[in-house]
Amino acid sequence: MSLLLTNLGSLVTNDPAQGSGLLGLVQDAAVVVENGTIAWVGAAAAAPATDEQFDAEGRSLLPGFVDSHAHLVFAGDRTAEFNARMSGQAYTAGGIRTTVAATRAATDAELDANLTRFVNEALRQGTTTIECKSGYGLTVADEARALRIAAAHTPETTYLGAHVVAPEYADDPAGYVDLVTGEMLDACAPHARWVDVFCENGAFDGDQARAILTAGAKRGLIPRVHANQLSYGPGVQLAVELGAASADHCTHLTDADVSALASGDTVATLLPGAEFSTRAPYPDARRLLDAGATVALSTDCNPGSSFTSSMAFCVAVAVREMGMTPDEAVHAATAGGAQALRRTDVGRITVGARADLLLLDAPSHVHLAYRPGVPLTAAVWRGGQREL
Ligand SMILES: [Zn+2]
Repeated sequence: MSLLLTNLGSLVTNDPAQGSGLLGLVQDAAVVVENGTIAWVGAAAAAPATDEQFDAEGRSLLPGFVDSHAHLVFAGDRTAEFNARMSGQAYTAGGIRTTVAATRAATDAELDANLTRFVNEALRQGTTTIECKSGYGLTVADEARALRIAAAHTPETTYLGAHVVAPEYADDPAGYVDLVTGEMLDACAPHARWVDVFCENGAFDGDQARAILTAGAKRGLIPRVHANQLSYGPGVQLAVELGAASADHCTHLTDADVSALASGDTVATLLPGAEFSTRAPYPDARRLLDAGATVALSTDCNPGSSFTSSMAFCVAVAVREMGMTPDEAVHAATAGGAQALRRTDVGRITVGARADLLLLDAPSHVHLAYRPGVPLTAAVWRGGQREL
Protein backbone atom coordinates (compact mmCIF):
# COMPACT_ATOMS: atom_id res chain seq x y z
CA MET A 1 0.00 0.00 0.00
CA SER A 2 1.31 3.45 -0.88
CA LEU A 3 0.18 6.63 0.83
CA LEU A 4 0.61 10.18 -0.45
CA LEU A 5 0.80 12.96 2.13
CA THR A 6 0.10 16.02 0.06
CA ASN A 7 -0.64 19.72 0.34
CA LEU A 8 2.11 20.13 2.96
CA GLY A 9 2.59 23.85 3.61
CA SER A 10 6.20 23.18 4.52
CA LEU A 11 8.25 20.04 4.83
CA VAL A 12 11.36 19.60 7.02
CA THR A 13 13.53 16.96 5.32
CA ASN A 14 16.78 17.64 7.22
CA ASP A 15 18.52 17.12 3.88
CA PRO A 16 19.96 20.39 2.54
CA ALA A 17 20.22 18.74 -0.89
CA GLN A 18 16.44 18.56 -1.05
CA GLY A 19 15.49 22.06 -0.05
CA SER A 20 16.55 25.29 1.53
CA GLY A 21 18.74 25.83 4.58
CA LEU A 22 19.84 23.54 7.38
CA LEU A 23 16.43 21.82 7.44
CA GLY A 24 16.21 21.20 3.69
CA LEU A 25 12.82 22.93 3.70
CA VAL A 26 10.45 22.27 0.81
CA GLN A 27 7.31 24.39 0.37
CA ASP A 28 4.08 23.01 -1.13
CA ALA A 29 5.53 19.55 -0.77
CA ALA A 30 4.35 15.96 -0.82
CA VAL A 31 5.73 12.69 0.57
CA VAL A 32 5.00 9.11 -0.45
CA VAL A 33 5.12 6.36 2.19
CA GLU A 34 5.41 2.73 1.13
CA ASN A 35 6.05 -0.33 3.29
CA GLY A 36 6.82 1.80 6.33
CA THR A 37 9.48 3.90 4.64
CA ILE A 38 9.72 7.10 2.64
CA ALA A 39 9.49 6.25 -1.06
CA TRP A 40 9.33 9.70 -2.63
CA VAL A 41 9.76 13.37 -1.61
CA GLY A 42 9.15 16.45 -3.73
CA ALA A 43 6.80 19.16 -4.94
CA ALA A 44 3.13 18.31 -4.51
CA ALA A 45 2.47 19.16 -8.15
CA ALA A 46 4.91 16.45 -9.27
CA ALA A 47 3.73 13.66 -6.92
CA PRO A 48 3.20 10.17 -8.36
CA ALA A 49 -0.10 8.27 -8.18
CA THR A 50 -0.65 6.25 -4.97
CA ASP A 51 -3.24 3.90 -3.43
CA GLU A 52 -4.29 6.42 -0.78
CA GLN A 53 -4.00 10.13 -0.13
CA PHE A 54 -3.89 12.32 2.97
CA ASP A 55 -4.57 16.03 2.56
CA ALA A 56 -2.42 17.98 5.04
CA GLU A 57 -4.35 21.18 4.31
CA GLY A 58 -1.25 23.37 4.29
CA ARG A 59 0.18 22.16 7.58
CA SER A 60 3.86 21.46 8.32
CA LEU A 61 5.42 17.98 8.35
CA LEU A 62 8.69 17.14 10.07
CA PRO A 63 10.51 13.98 11.16
CA GLY A 64 9.21 12.57 14.44
CA PHE A 65 11.27 13.82 17.36
CA VAL A 66 14.26 11.69 18.40
CA ASP A 67 14.59 11.89 22.18
CA SER A 68 18.05 10.45 22.79
CA HIS A 69 18.16 10.83 26.60
CA ALA A 70 15.42 9.69 28.99
CA HIS A 71 15.14 7.80 32.29
CA LEU A 72 11.72 6.16 32.14
CA VAL A 73 11.96 2.92 34.13
CA PHE A 74 11.06 4.05 37.61
CA ALA A 75 8.32 4.14 40.20
CA GLY A 76 7.27 6.77 42.69
CA ASP A 77 6.91 10.50 42.61
CA ARG A 78 9.01 13.49 43.68
CA THR A 79 6.45 16.28 43.57
CA ALA A 80 7.24 17.34 47.12
CA GLU A 81 10.95 17.67 46.36
CA PHE A 82 10.24 19.84 43.29
CA ASN A 83 7.74 21.93 45.20
CA ALA A 84 10.22 22.51 48.02
CA ARG A 85 12.97 23.48 45.56
CA MET A 86 10.69 25.92 43.73
CA SER A 87 9.53 27.35 47.05
CA GLY A 88 13.05 28.25 48.03
CA GLN A 89 13.38 25.68 50.76
CA ALA A 90 16.70 23.99 51.32
CA TYR A 91 16.88 20.78 49.36
CA THR A 92 17.37 17.98 51.87
CA ALA A 93 15.21 15.24 50.40
CA GLY A 94 16.64 11.85 49.56
CA GLY A 95 16.71 12.75 45.87
CA ILE A 96 17.56 9.87 43.60
CA ARG A 97 17.56 7.40 46.49
CA THR A 98 13.82 8.01 46.89
CA THR A 99 13.28 6.83 43.33
CA VAL A 100 15.65 3.87 43.76
CA ALA A 101 13.69 2.65 46.79
CA ALA A 102 10.34 3.00 45.02
CA THR A 103 11.65 1.34 41.85
CA ARG A 104 13.07 -1.64 43.72
CA ALA A 105 9.75 -2.08 45.53
CA ALA A 106 7.68 -2.00 42.32
CA THR A 107 6.57 -5.09 40.42
CA ASP A 108 7.59 -5.70 36.81
CA ALA A 109 4.00 -4.95 35.77
CA GLU A 110 4.01 -1.62 37.58
CA LEU A 111 7.29 -0.55 35.99
CA ASP A 112 6.08 -1.63 32.55
CA ALA A 113 2.79 0.24 32.98
CA ASN A 114 4.66 3.38 34.02
CA LEU A 115 7.04 3.14 31.06
CA THR A 116 4.18 2.49 28.64
CA ARG A 117 2.44 5.59 29.91
CA PHE A 118 5.50 7.78 29.33
CA VAL A 119 6.30 6.35 25.88
CA ASN A 120 2.69 7.04 24.84
CA GLU A 121 2.78 10.48 26.40
CA ALA A 122 5.91 11.26 24.34
CA LEU A 123 4.33 9.81 21.20
CA ARG A 124 1.31 12.09 21.55
CA GLN A 125 3.78 14.99 21.48
CA GLY A 126 5.50 13.74 18.34
CA THR A 127 8.38 11.65 19.71
CA THR A 128 8.76 8.53 17.57
CA THR A 129 12.20 7.37 18.80
CA ILE A 130 13.09 7.39 22.48
CA GLU A 131 16.14 6.22 24.36
CA CYS A 132 15.64 4.70 27.79
CA LYS A 133 18.18 4.19 30.58
CA SER A 134 18.34 1.96 33.60
CA GLY A 135 19.82 3.49 36.75
CA TYR A 136 17.11 3.37 39.42
CA GLY A 137 17.72 -0.24 40.43
CA LEU A 138 21.44 -0.26 41.27
CA THR A 139 21.46 -3.99 42.01
CA VAL A 140 22.31 -6.70 39.49
CA ALA A 141 18.72 -7.97 39.35
CA ASP A 142 17.03 -4.54 39.35
CA GLU A 143 19.25 -3.05 36.64
CA ALA A 144 18.82 -6.13 34.42
CA ARG A 145 15.05 -6.06 34.87
CA ALA A 146 14.86 -2.34 34.04
CA LEU A 147 16.65 -2.97 30.75
CA ARG A 148 14.59 -6.06 29.97
CA ILE A 149 11.41 -4.02 30.44
CA ALA A 150 12.77 -1.07 28.42
CA ALA A 151 13.90 -3.32 25.55
CA ALA A 152 10.29 -4.32 24.92
CA HIS A 153 9.55 -0.66 24.08
CA THR A 154 12.66 0.65 22.32
CA PRO A 155 15.89 -0.67 20.77
CA GLU A 156 17.71 2.32 22.31
CA THR A 157 18.37 0.92 25.77
CA THR A 158 21.21 2.19 27.94
CA TYR A 159 22.90 0.48 30.85
CA LEU A 160 23.31 3.14 33.57
CA GLY A 161 24.23 1.06 36.59
CA ALA A 162 26.69 3.92 37.18
CA HIS A 163 23.98 6.51 37.83
CA VAL A 164 25.06 6.93 41.46
CA VAL A 165 26.80 4.59 43.87
CA ALA A 166 24.20 2.19 45.28
CA PRO A 167 23.30 2.99 48.90
CA GLU A 168 24.63 -0.42 50.00
CA TYR A 169 28.08 0.63 48.70
CA ALA A 170 28.15 4.14 50.18
CA ASP A 171 31.35 3.29 52.06
CA ASP A 172 32.86 1.25 49.23
CA PRO A 173 32.53 3.07 45.90
CA ALA A 174 35.39 1.02 44.41
CA GLY A 175 33.44 -2.12 45.24
CA TYR A 176 30.42 -0.71 43.43
CA VAL A 177 32.51 0.07 40.32
CA ASP A 178 33.70 -3.56 40.41
CA LEU A 179 30.07 -4.68 40.48
CA VAL A 180 29.07 -2.32 37.63
CA THR A 181 31.98 -3.51 35.48
CA GLY A 182 31.55 -7.18 36.44
CA GLU A 183 28.48 -9.12 37.46
CA MET A 184 26.01 -6.28 36.77
CA LEU A 185 27.43 -5.68 33.29
CA ASP A 186 27.17 -9.42 32.52
CA ALA A 187 23.50 -9.38 33.47
CA CYS A 188 22.68 -6.13 31.65
CA ALA A 189 24.69 -6.29 28.42
CA PRO A 190 22.27 -8.67 26.65
CA HIS A 191 19.44 -6.12 27.03
CA ALA A 192 21.37 -2.92 26.26
CA ARG A 193 22.80 -1.12 23.22
CA TRP A 194 24.61 1.62 25.14
CA VAL A 195 26.63 2.10 28.33
CA ASP A 196 26.43 5.38 30.22
CA VAL A 197 27.95 6.87 33.37
CA PHE A 198 27.17 9.95 35.45
CA CYS A 199 30.63 11.55 35.53
CA GLU A 200 30.28 14.23 38.20
CA ASN A 201 31.39 15.20 41.70
CA GLY A 202 29.38 13.02 44.03
CA ALA A 203 28.78 10.36 41.37
CA PHE A 204 31.74 8.88 39.45
CA ASP A 205 35.11 10.52 38.78
CA GLY A 206 37.06 10.38 35.52
CA ASP A 207 38.99 7.21 36.33
CA GLN A 208 35.88 5.36 37.47
CA ALA A 209 33.95 6.57 34.42
CA ARG A 210 36.75 5.40 32.12
CA ALA A 211 36.76 1.94 33.73
CA ILE A 212 32.96 1.64 33.40
CA LEU A 213 32.77 2.81 29.79
CA THR A 214 35.75 0.69 28.74
CA ALA A 215 34.28 -2.42 30.36
CA GLY A 216 30.97 -1.76 28.62
CA ALA A 217 32.67 -1.26 25.27
CA LYS A 218 34.44 -4.61 25.65
CA ARG A 219 30.98 -6.17 25.90
CA GLY A 220 29.86 -4.45 22.71
CA LEU A 221 28.03 -1.53 24.33
CA ILE A 222 28.67 1.90 22.84
CA PRO A 223 29.56 4.67 25.29
CA ARG A 224 27.58 7.82 26.06
CA VAL A 225 28.29 10.03 29.05
CA HIS A 226 26.45 12.30 31.50
CA ALA A 227 29.14 14.97 31.30
CA ASN A 228 29.81 18.43 32.74
CA GLN A 229 26.27 18.94 34.03
CA LEU A 230 26.82 20.48 37.46
CA SER A 231 30.47 21.48 37.25
CA TYR A 232 33.56 21.48 35.06
CA GLY A 233 35.10 18.03 34.87
CA PRO A 234 36.65 15.30 32.75
CA GLY A 235 33.40 13.91 31.28
CA VAL A 236 33.40 15.65 27.91
CA GLN A 237 37.08 14.97 27.19
CA LEU A 238 36.64 11.35 28.18
CA ALA A 239 33.57 10.99 25.95
CA VAL A 240 35.45 12.34 22.94
CA GLU A 241 38.57 10.28 23.71
CA LEU A 242 36.57 7.05 23.96
CA GLY A 243 34.54 7.81 20.84
CA ALA A 244 31.27 8.10 22.74
CA ALA A 245 28.22 8.74 20.60
CA SER A 246 27.17 11.60 22.83
CA ALA A 247 28.23 13.79 25.75
CA ASP A 248 25.04 14.77 27.53
CA HIS A 249 24.30 18.01 29.43
CA CYS A 250 27.49 19.97 28.49
CA THR A 251 26.46 22.84 30.74
CA HIS A 252 29.90 23.71 32.14
CA LEU A 253 32.45 23.65 29.31
CA THR A 254 35.99 24.97 29.01
CA ASP A 255 37.25 26.17 25.65
CA ALA A 256 39.16 22.87 25.39
CA ASP A 257 35.91 20.94 25.95
CA VAL A 258 34.21 22.91 23.18
CA SER A 259 37.13 22.31 20.81
CA ALA A 260 37.13 18.60 21.60
CA LEU A 261 33.41 18.35 20.78
CA ALA A 262 33.86 20.40 17.61
CA SER A 263 36.70 18.25 16.33
CA GLY A 264 35.34 14.80 17.26
CA ASP A 265 32.29 12.75 16.31
CA THR A 266 30.73 12.98 19.76
CA VAL A 267 27.41 14.83 19.72
CA ALA A 268 26.78 17.49 22.39
CA THR A 269 23.33 16.66 23.74
CA LEU A 270 21.71 19.52 25.63
CA LEU A 271 18.92 18.89 28.14
CA PRO A 272 17.30 22.21 29.02
CA GLY A 273 14.51 20.54 31.01
CA ALA A 274 17.08 19.85 33.72
CA GLU A 275 18.16 23.48 34.03
CA PHE A 276 14.54 24.62 33.87
CA SER A 277 13.50 22.28 36.67
CA THR A 278 16.42 23.11 38.93
CA ARG A 279 16.62 26.86 38.17
CA ALA A 280 20.16 26.42 36.89
CA PRO A 281 21.92 28.33 34.08
CA TYR A 282 21.30 26.85 30.62
CA PRO A 283 24.06 25.38 28.46
CA ASP A 284 25.39 27.71 25.75
CA ALA A 285 24.25 26.11 22.53
CA ARG A 286 25.39 29.10 20.46
CA ARG A 287 29.00 28.63 21.59
CA LEU A 288 28.93 24.96 20.60
CA LEU A 289 27.28 25.58 17.23
CA ASP A 290 29.61 28.45 16.37
CA ALA A 291 32.58 26.18 17.14
CA GLY A 292 31.21 23.55 14.76
CA ALA A 293 29.93 20.94 17.22
CA THR A 294 26.86 18.83 16.46
CA VAL A 295 24.10 19.59 18.95
CA ALA A 296 21.15 17.43 19.95
CA LEU A 297 18.23 18.38 22.20
CA SER A 298 16.59 15.85 24.49
CA THR A 299 14.20 15.84 27.44
CA ASP A 300 16.24 13.97 30.11
CA CYS A 301 12.76 12.90 31.25
CA ASN A 302 13.14 11.65 34.84
CA PRO A 303 11.19 12.12 38.06
CA GLY A 304 13.84 14.19 39.87
CA SER A 305 15.44 16.89 37.76
CA SER A 306 13.45 17.11 34.50
CA PHE A 307 9.98 15.62 34.51
CA THR A 308 8.98 16.59 30.99
CA SER A 309 8.52 14.32 27.97
CA SER A 310 7.96 17.28 25.65
CA MET A 311 10.55 17.80 22.92
CA ALA A 312 8.57 20.83 21.76
CA PHE A 313 9.12 22.39 25.18
CA CYS A 314 12.87 21.77 24.84
CA VAL A 315 12.86 23.38 21.39
CA ALA A 316 11.09 26.47 22.74
CA VAL A 317 13.47 26.83 25.70
CA ALA A 318 16.52 26.30 23.47
CA VAL A 319 15.39 29.12 21.20
CA ARG A 320 14.48 31.50 24.02
CA GLU A 321 17.34 30.78 26.43
CA MET A 322 20.20 29.03 24.65
CA GLY A 323 20.85 31.13 21.55
CA MET A 324 19.53 28.62 19.01
CA THR A 325 17.54 29.67 15.95
CA PRO A 326 14.22 27.85 15.48
CA ASP A 327 15.76 25.92 12.56
CA GLU A 328 18.75 24.86 14.67
CA ALA A 329 16.54 23.75 17.55
CA VAL A 330 14.23 21.69 15.33
CA HIS A 331 17.26 20.15 13.64
CA ALA A 332 18.79 19.29 17.02
CA ALA A 333 15.54 17.67 18.21
CA THR A 334 15.29 15.45 15.12
CA ALA A 335 18.51 14.95 13.11
CA GLY A 336 20.70 15.80 16.11
CA GLY A 337 19.02 13.17 18.28
CA ALA A 338 19.36 10.64 15.47
CA GLN A 339 23.09 11.34 15.25
CA ALA A 340 23.41 11.02 19.04
CA LEU A 341 21.91 7.53 18.65
CA ARG A 342 23.96 6.81 15.50
CA ARG A 343 20.79 6.28 13.52
CA THR A 344 20.57 7.18 9.84
CA ASP A 345 17.04 5.83 9.36
CA VAL A 346 15.27 8.38 11.59
CA GLY A 347 15.41 12.16 12.10
CA ARG A 348 15.04 12.87 8.37
CA ILE A 349 12.44 12.66 5.65
CA THR A 350 14.41 11.27 2.75
CA VAL A 351 13.92 8.29 0.47
CA GLY A 352 14.64 5.08 2.38
CA ALA A 353 14.19 6.58 5.87
CA ARG A 354 11.60 5.21 8.27
CA ALA A 355 8.25 6.91 7.87
CA ASP A 356 8.32 8.43 11.38
CA LEU A 357 6.43 11.64 10.84
CA LEU A 358 4.96 14.49 12.85
CA LEU A 359 2.27 16.67 11.28
CA LEU A 360 1.94 19.98 13.12
CA ASP A 361 -1.28 21.85 13.54
CA ALA A 362 0.61 24.85 12.16
CA PRO A 363 1.89 26.07 8.79
CA SER A 364 5.55 26.06 9.87
CA HIS A 365 7.96 24.21 12.17
CA VAL A 366 8.83 27.64 13.65
CA HIS A 367 5.54 27.46 15.57
CA LEU A 368 7.19 24.93 17.91
CA ALA A 369 9.07 27.88 19.42
CA TYR A 370 6.66 30.65 18.41
CA ARG A 371 3.72 29.00 20.25
CA PRO A 372 5.33 27.54 23.39
CA GLY A 373 3.22 25.23 25.50
CA VAL A 374 0.54 24.82 22.83
CA PRO A 375 -0.33 21.25 21.79
CA LEU A 376 0.52 21.30 18.06
CA THR A 377 0.42 17.59 17.24
CA ALA A 378 -2.07 17.05 14.41
CA ALA A 379 -0.99 13.49 13.47
CA VAL A 380 1.88 11.06 14.02
CA TRP A 381 3.03 8.12 11.90
CA ARG A 382 5.56 5.58 13.15
CA GLY A 383 7.02 3.18 10.62
CA GLY A 384 4.28 4.31 8.25
CA GLN A 385 1.51 3.44 10.74
CA ARG A 386 -0.81 6.23 11.76
CA GLU A 387 -0.55 6.35 15.56
CA LEU A 388 -2.79 9.35 16.19
ZN1 LIG B 1 20.13 11.89 32.45
